[in-house]
Parts: sequence; C-alpha cells; structure tokens
Amino acid sequence: MAHDSDSLPFLVFGAPHIGEAEIDEALACLRSGWLGTGPRVAQFEQDFAVFRGVKATQVAAVNSCTAALHVSMLAAGIEAGSEVITTPLTFCATVNAILHAGLVPVLADVDPQTQNIDPDAIEAAITPRTRAILPVHFAGRPCAMDRIMALARKHDLVVIEDCAHAVEAQFNGLPLGTFGDFGCFSFYVTKNVATGEGGMIVGRSDEQIARSKVLALHGMSKDAWHRFGDQGYKHYQVVECGFKYNMMDLQAAIGLHQLARVEESWLRRDAIWKRYDAGFAQLPIGLPSPAEAGTRHGRHLYTVMIDNDRCGISRDGFLDAMNAAKIGTGVHYLSVPEHPYYQQRFGWRPEQWPHAMKLGRETVSLPLSPALSDADVTRVIDTVHGILVGK
Ligand SMILES: *Cc1c(COP(=O)(O)O)cnc(C)c1O
Repeated sequence: MAHDSDSLPFLVFGAPHIGEAEIDEALACLRSGWLGTGPRVAQFEQDFAVFRGVKATQVAAVNSCTAALHVSMLAAGIEAGSEVITTPLTFCATVNAILHAGLVPVLADVDPQTQNIDPDAIEAAITPRTRAILPVHFAGRPCAMDRIMALARKHDLVVIEDCAHAVEAQFNGLPLGTFGDFGCFSFYVTKNVATGEGGMIVGRSDEQIARSKVLALHGMSKDAWHRFGDQGYKHYQVVECGFKYNMMDLQAAIGLHQLARVEESWLRRDAIWKRYDAGFAQLPIGLPSPAEAGTRHGRHLYTVMIDNDRCGISRDGFLDAMNAAKIGTGVHYLSVPEHPYYQQRFGWRPEQWPHAMKLGRETVSLPLSPALSDADVTRVIDTVHGILVGK
C-alpha cells in the first residue's frame, strides 16, 4: 500500500468544515446571553429563504430534518391513517416521521441506476388511501420531480421532499424543496450545511408554515424571542399540542456562515467527486451514475458498490479494510425493511424491494467532506486500489 497508515490520522467520515467565522459567531452568541431561538435563527431563516428563492414567510427553522418531516405532515393536514409512499433506500427517520404523524408508510422500490424512488413503482403503490408522496433526493441526486408532481396532481396527493442530502441540488433549474408542498432540510453534522443538529422547512403556503412554527414550539402562539425580547413581556396562548422542535441561536450562529459558504463547499466536493470518478474508473466497483441532464447533483454522498463476485471481497470486508487503513466510511443505507422493527410491525421482507435490498447490501460511502485535503483524497483512492487490486 502506498501509505504507512500508522503515522496517519483517522479520516473521520462526514467531518464538517468549520471555519473561523462559525467559531467567532458562536462565541458572540454565547457572549450575547441569548442562546435560544432568537435573532440569529430569524437571520438564518431569512438567509435560507433568499438562498431558496422563496419568501421569508415560507421557511421555518427547526432542530432537525426529522422534526421538519414530522411537522410538515401534520401541517399538511393529512388525515390520520392515510398512506404515504416513500423509498426503502433512506434513513430510518424518513419512515419514523411518517409513523409519528400517525400515517402509514408504503414503500416503492428505487431505480437501480439513480437509486431514487422509481415513479413507476410509486404509481403501482397508489391506493384509495394514499394521501402523500415523500421522495428522498438520495445522495444529492434529484428525484424525477416532473413525473412525481404529475402523479401528485393526477391523484391529488401532498408531496413532501426529503432534501436532507440535497441543499444545493436543482431539477430543471429550480431548487429542490420548492416542487412539493414542503421541502425538509437537515443540518446534521455530516450534511452539506452543518449546525450540529438542525433542520429547515420550506413550504408553499404561508398558512402551513405558520402552523408548522406553532407546532414546532409547544403549540404556542408566540415564540420566546417575542415573549422575552426587548419589546416587553407578551402573553402567549397554547393553541394546540405541539412539540419541542425549535432551533437555537447557537445552532443558527454556525449555520449562517455554513450557508454563506455553501457554494464553495459544493465546488470542493464536486472536485473530489471528479477525482474519485477518474481514480476508480478501472476498478471492478460500481460508481455513481452521471447526473441526469437538466439537474444539479448535491454531491452529498459518493457511494460505490462492492459486489463480492466482481471485487473478490464482501462489502463488509471492504468496510473493515478501509477502517484498518484509518479511513472512515458509511453505509447509506441498508434498506429500511432490513431492520427488525419494521419487519415485526409490518411484516416487511427486504426481498419485496429487490433493488433497494441489493444496493443496501453492496453500498459504501467514501469520505466527501470539503474538509478533505488533496492528499486525503489521494490516500482514499490509493487505499481503495490497495484493497481491490490483486483480489
Ligand atoms: C439525515 C437524514 C434525515 C434526518 O435528518 P436529522 O436532521 O438528523 O433529523 C432524514 N432523511 C435523510 C435522507 C437523512 O439523510
């Protein structure tokens, strides 16, 4: 192997790139005495609205994408017990949020090429009880929003986009999260814009966003900034039974500067992506397919497929070998029906969604953080070669 890994640091998967501006702003926030939801969250919402090209009344900051998904399904007013169609190749939070909203998840298999939910599979899964589609823009690759929106119009369905991977992605020149009724974003540490924990809801309707804000803070009619701010104490009313999903100013302090660098970070990840594409072209591993015409890929996850027969090593053997070389990897994702909870509750078996099952058993995510140096990228490429060549 080209590198002596004993002297090298462990390359943490998904390490965020935190700049001095984030550190200074977080310190200023701590020193201000206002840590909770306040002026920095309001500024972050405004900046995000400008970034998405929507009005400030169309965004609501929350403390996770999971919260964003949950609250948007409630604010959409979907009747309890209705079916929501989503992908089996996603993080468990997508499906759990459907359950928390009192709705019934229905899985539709992915297209093996794009790894995104297949519109034909969505159509086949529609029943008289279907009320919503929840597409996930997997790895940053936009779903076929033209076909999904056409299905939604035809069957009168709500669309909630899980944009956790796709903050910079576009479909036909328009930003993701603005096609459906709602777009839900994540600012978890490993995501493209990181605040540690955090999320954002983008919505078509001002009323539904206003309701989302109430639901995200105990069901209270006014948030704490408006109660304890410099305008004097204001009484609030509890108008429904909400949740504790508000974002802190301390999180927004980080997000403000992460968002300001979103394009720079994307360009860095795009450059790493191209080096991986070139560096792995001769290897017997499956690579991400090129971005579809008319789309901009969010470059969130670089996933390779390790097929035991072609590679001479199992996926899990490959993960172990990467770890031994001190390179952190991820698995996005074992398909949802591989997990015992869903098997027991719904009787799901992975074989029912064969494309997601096969992808989930072969996939490996390689480091793709803007924090990686050119030497780090070389090290990843050389290590993958070292593991596979001669097998
Ligand atoms: C990370 C992620 C979520 C959850 O985001 P949190 O902000 O951690 O709640 C939801 N869906 C997908 C596809 C994700 O990757």
